[in-house]
Amino acid sequence: MSPSAGFDSEFSYELCVCRWAELAWPPGESVGDADSTALTTHIVARQLGTQKRRWDTVIVEVDPAALRNRAAFGDAELDSDLLHILRNAPAEWAWYREALPEPDYPWRYVREAIHRAADRDILHTRRAGNRIEIRRIAPYPDWLVRLIAIENKPDLDASAARRLGDQLTHDVDVGLADEVWVATSRTGELVEPALLEALPVEAGILTTAFDDGVDADSAQVDWHPTALTPTHGAAHRTTRRLELAERAYGRGWRNYHETMRPDCRYFALRRHGRALVPWCGAKECHQSASLCSGSCVDFSPEPPAWRMRGWPIEGGPGAASRRLLADRANRENS
Ligand code: SF4
Repeated sequence: MSPSAGFDSEFSYELCVCRWAELAWPPGESVGDADSTALTTHIVARQLGTQKRRWDTVIVEVDPAALRNRAAFGDAELDSDLLHILRNAPAEWAWYREALPEPDYPWRYVREAIHRAADRDILHTRRAGNRIEIRRIAPYPDWLVRLIAIENKPDLDASAARRLGDQLTHDVDVGLADEVWVATSRTGELVEPALLEALPVEAGILTTAFDDGVDADSAQVDWHPTALTPTHGAAHRTTRRLELAERAYGRGWRNYHETMRPDCRYFALRRHGRALVPWCGAKECHQSASLCSGSCVDFSPEPPAWRMRGWPIEGGPGAASRRLLADRANRENS
């Protein structure tokens, strides 16, 4: 059986890794300090990164109490401009230019972000003459504990390992994440081939067995990671990590339906253990997100009757798929 049997795309594999991480992170007591991990919870996201580097799966370990305080700022992510304001907004009314640190971009962008924050009810604002004064609604909490990056490669052959090795070496050098991992399908060989590939020793290796479905036991640690040492300045690193954590908070990993075609009559979600994975009834495979797009030659819109009058219950299967993914995301984050 092929290492990636049951999956026709790396995309499906990635969703399974995300679901496993949601169920089982951290894997046993092997990751970090058991005392500290017992005090954290986590958020899973996919396809996040910087301009130079995008990770497949991102796990944000968070302080549960601080995360509850983060909820005061709404469900949507806060971009870097909003973070700049909310992290520095004063407890008492003050002119924004005196209250906030000098930005490394023009003040007019700060003003625009202040108006956006006020529109979202996450910042108090008022006019004092021709000046805008601001006051925070609450202190922005320190909710991020650790940032974990996982690269997913179900079939880790030598050439894939070489490419991945270069990327992971960059991650290790930069140290933006606290740990980096590779997830790959378990082969069952005495020594997993991934252990023999030229990957940085700092990267952890997870081997997965998703053929019978995803559950908390369907991945194991084959190599423990080393905590990475940051090379950037502390303030810069904190800001970049918080921006990533905010994106994870706002997007999670189930937002793929926004770019795929759940409005296609062939789109379905198939249960795979405790995961739901997109399935294309026309191609009879787990389709990739890039395949399942507006340019798909097999795309066929849901018949209008499916969407009308709540057929069969509040819209057709496409609407039901979107609703199901949103419900799942809400339940896992609540
Ligand atoms: S036919 Fe194309 S658009 Fe429709 S579900 Fe399959 S891959 Fe997606």
